[in-house]
Amino acid sequence: MKPEVQPNKIVVLSGAGLSAESGLPTFRDANGLWNNFSLEEVATPQGWAANPEAVLAFYNERRLSAYQAAPNAAHQAIAALDAAYDVVIITQNVDGLHERAGSRNVIHLHGQLAWARGTSPLPKRYRIDAAPVSLGQLCEDGTQLRPNVVWFGEDVQHMDEARQHVASAARVLVVGTSLSVFPAASLVKAARGRAQKVINSLAMKRVPFGFTFLPGKATSIVPALVQTWLEQAR
Ligand code: NAD
Repeated sequence: MKPEVQPNKIVVLSGAGLSAESGLPTFRDANGLWNNFSLEEVATPQGWAANPEAVLAFYNERRLSAYQAAPNAAHQAIAALDAAYDVVIITQNVDGLHERAGSRNVIHLHGQLAWARGTSPLPKRYRIDAAPVSLGQLCEDGTQLRPNVVWFGEDVQHMDEARQHVASAARVLVVGTSLSVFPAASLVKAARGRAQKVINSLAMKRVPFGFTFLPGKATSIVPALVQTWLEQAR
């Protein structure tokens, strides 16, 4: 059964483009990570099995860059919505910039760089911030530590909860995602017909049904939209 739409609820679904202006490369744009690294080698269980040292080195670099980056005006504007709305952020990003901008309610679909975990089925997780992980560094259960991120071919976290949130939102903002990584991209389909639905990115191959496309950089589009929504809440 579909949940009831909550008039004061906003769901933000974010992707790598939101953090591009914080200096963190996206995956698929001209300067995207996949132009410089092979997805199969650094972001799959097979890549990890073949060369864990290279995978750890890749994520050690990503973790340090994310730690050194700062939230931009779009992250900050999204955080300001908490003052007037019930906001749930569902992010594909692993950089932690939503929390550092002050957002309180963030669901991480693809994990977080600032955490490491063991490689057993029920591993412990450790907050490591910017610290590198090296080969031979073990979890308490004796297994090798790895980045606490979801690789291609692994289960995305919190999908059911995320879908329920999208389905009960009166406003949905999708920002900085090419909607090409599944199942995260399928969440837009859960948005309700009567919800106000907006999508911002530089370009979109196909705008999801019912969404209004606002092309442009997140740091100019998102603060203006948030301003309007905050005025409407008064
Ligand atoms: P993607 O690279 O596939 O697409 C990026 C999208 O952002 C594109 O549609 C592009 O037009 C848009 N974009 C680029 N710059 C923008 C800007 N300044 N303002 C607004 N939009 C902009 O990214 P995705 O859809 O998030 O891909 C999914 C995967 O990327 C996720 O699995 C995520 O974990 C991973 N990722 C995360 C980070 C991060 O945490 N910062 C960085 C790289 C990749």
